[in-house]
Amino acid sequence: MRRVIHEILYAAGAVALLAGCITLEGTRSLNLLSTQEEVTIGREIADEIEAKEKVLDDPALQQYLNEIGQRLVAGVERRDVQYQFKVIDAPDTVNAFALPGGFMYVYTGLMKFCDNEAELASVMAHEIAHVAAYHHGEALTRAYGYQLLLSIILGKNQAQAARIAGEFIGGMGMLYFSRQNEYEADAKGMEYLARAGYQPGAMITFMQKLAQAEQGGGGARRITLFATHPPTSERIARLSALEQQYPADLRVNGPVHADRFHDRAISRIR
Ligand SMILES: [Zn+2]
Repeated sequence: MRRVIHEILYAAGAVALLAGCITLEGTRSLNLLSTQEEVTIGREIADEIEAKEKVLDDPALQQYLNEIGQRLVAGVERRDVQYQFKVIDAPDTVNAFALPGGFMYVYTGLMKFCDNEAELASVMAHEIAHVAAYHHGEALTRAYGYQLLLSIILGKNQAQAARIAGEFIGGMGMLYFSRQNEYEADAKGMEYLARAGYQPGAMITFMQKLAQAEQGGGGARRITLFATHPPTSERIARLSALEQQYPADLRVNGPVHADRFHDRAISRIR
């Protein structure tokens, strides 16, 4: 029965996608994936990520990342997935991403790039927001169609799961998201950051630093984070306007936890 419903949805989806071509952005893309399907695809891709990348063998740092993640998740509306956070051991790579279903990976190179816990939390909050706003289901459906996704769900298309994993690792996974998705993830992310008690402007200082590093070529680092996102300057302008809606006390005096970040993260990374 469920299968039949999917076939009908798939046909309807094809029509909606054609209609979507006319209006382009502004239409909310359809998401054909149930939560269970999204989680299954996410887990397939996560397996491929962990086959290609090295999960850091440091329970204390993993625990610290998880604490930050759960603090952010406490303010998230979407509760039908379990958000999970893992550190990847790659000190020269500035990257982080969330997969469908809430599996998130943060590279040690991103941690080294941050000056404090709030900046790291701002990137995590942006990625959590993609999950919370159901962007993955929309984007994957748009990019591949339900049939191909179904083959991954059924465990019959490991090659495609591996390919998608490679795109996230290379910073191209976000290519699936629209600009509207990105601006929404920034706005929601800043809100989650504030709800968790962090200074919301940490998202802006992080992006300013990222813009600077991008201009300077990044040195020996490999900066794949946000590679396919809208121009950083435009994101900063929008976030600066949004920041004004938060109480002055949080904006100015909200904690960024630089010392704690140094003790629990930076001092442990090679
Ligand atoms: Zn994004």
